[in-house]
Amino acid sequence: MTAHVLIAGAGIGGLGAALALAKIGIKVTVLEQTDVFGEVGAGVQISPNAYKVLSGWGLGDALLQTANFPEALQVRSATSDKLLGQLQLGSQAHTRYGFPFATLLRADLHTLLLNALRQEVNVDLYLHAKITDIAETKQQLGRQVTVTTELGDTFTADALIGADGLWSSVRQQMLEHSAPHATGHTAWRALLPMADVPPELQQDTVTAWLDADRHIIAYPVQQGKSLNLVDCCENTANNKKKSLQTTYSLNSLLSKTLQNVFHLAAQKKAWTRWDLFDRPPLRSSSQMANPTHPRIALLGDAAHPMLPYLAQGAAMALEDAQALALSIQQNPNDLASALQLYAQTRWQRNARVQARAARNGQIFHAKPPVSWARDAAMGMLGEKILDMPWLYGGI
Ligand SMILES: Cc1cc2nc3c(=O)[nH]c(=O)nc-3n(C[C@H](O)[C@H](O)[C@H](O)COP(=O)(O)OP(=O)(O)OC[C@H]3O[C@@H](n4cnc5c(N)ncnc54)[C@H](O)[C@@H]3O)c2cc1C
Repeated sequence: MTAHVLIAGAGIGGLGAALALAKIGIKVTVLEQTDVFGEVGAGVQISPNAYKVLSGWGLGDALLQTANFPEALQVRSATSDKLLGQLQLGSQAHTRYGFPFATLLRADLHTLLLNALRQEVNVDLYLHAKITDIAETKQQLGRQVTVTTELGDTFTADALIGADGLWSSVRQQMLEHSAPHATGHTAWRALLPMADVPPELQQDTVTAWLDADRHIIAYPVQQGKSLNLVDCCENTANNKKKSLQTTYSLNSLLSKTLQNVFHLAAQKKAWTRWDLFDRPPLRSSSQMANPTHPRIALLGDAAHPMLPYLAQGAAMALEDAQALALSIQQNPNDLASALQLYAQTRWQRNARVQARAARNGQIFHAKPPVSWARDAAMGMLGEKILDMPWLYGGI
C-alpha cells in the first residue's frame, strides 16, 4: 500500500517536501492555513546547494526562465560605498559547485514549486486548512496521525511533517512548548522597479553594505526587472529611529547611492517591516523528529529558524525536503525509522548554518575597531572569507 504523508504548511519547505515525496511515489496531502497559495516578502537568494535540490526535482529549465544569475557577491562600506571584498559567482560558481547561484522573486519560486506539484498524481492541496489539533493513534498497520483543522475537517495518514514555519503549531503541540527568540533585529524589505533605481545599482550582483548595527542587501530579481532591497537593523535606540526609514535625514551617514535608493523606496512607500526571530542551533536530532512521536517530524523554519544573514533558511528547508525523501526511499516500509534517519542526517548541518547565520550578524554589524579588522581581513582574503564550500557544495 502506498504510504500517505500529511504536510502542514505550503511555504517553500512544505511545497518542496510535497514535491520530493510525490516524486518517490508517496501520497501527499498538504494543508495550508491561508486562503491563497503564495509567498510574502520580496526576493530570495538560491545558492548552489539549494539550486542542486531544485534542479534534481526537474526545475532547472523553469529556473532559467525566471531567475537572475548574479556575476558576483560584493561587500561594501555603507558609508563610503568602498568595495571591501568580492566573491565571483556567475560561471565560476557554476563550475565550482556544479550549480549556479540565483536570485528570484519569492512568488516566482513558490509558483514554480506549485506548478510542478500540480503535475504530480497523488497530491492533494488544501487551503483554509489551519491545523488545530493532532492525535496519534495505533492502527493495525502501525501508528498513524490524525489532524483536525479549524473548520473541523480531519485527515489521517501514516506520518505528519510540520513545515508550518516559525510559529509551528506541530512543534508546539508535539515537541516543545517554547516561543521563538525575538532577536531585536528588523528587516525592512522593498521591491523597486529596476528602471527607477540609481544606475550604480542596476548591476547583476548581490551587494551587501555594512554599517554598525546594520547592513543592507540588494540584488536583482524578475530577470532584472526589479531590485530587491533589504535593510537589516538592530533595534538599538539609534536604529529604532533609523528603521522608520521615511526620515531621509536619519540615513544621512549612508553613501549617496544608498541615500538615493532609500529616498526612492520611501517615496514609493515600498518598505515592509519584518521583525526577525530565531532559535538556538539544534542540539540533537530529536528536535527534528522526537522518537516519542515516531510519525512526526519538523522541516524548515518549524525546526530551525535562523537569522537571514547567510541567506539559507529556504535553502535548508529545500535540503531537508530532499533528505526526507531519500530517508523514506531507504526505509520504504518503516516510516518511523525513515523520520529518525532524516533527522539524524539533517540536524548537524542545520545547526551549523543557524550558528553561522547568527555569527554573520555580529561580523556584518561590527563597530570600530572590530569593523576595521574585518574590513582589512576582507581586503586581504576576499574570496577565501566569502566562499563557503562546505555550504555551497550541498548535500
Ligand atoms: C528578510 C529575510 C530574507 C531571507 N532571505 C533568504 C534568502 O535569500 N535565501 C534563503 O534560503 N532564505 C532566506 N530567508 C529565509 C526563508 O524565507 C525561510 O527560511 C523560509 O521561507 C522558510 O520556509 P518554510 O516553508 O519552512 O516556512 P514558511 O515560509 O513560514 O511557511 C510555513 C507555512 O505554513 C503555514 N502554516 C502555519 N501554521 C499552520 C497551521 N497550523 N496549519 C496549516 N498551515 C500552517 C503558513 O501559512 C505558511 O504558508 C529569508 C528570511 C527573511 C526574513
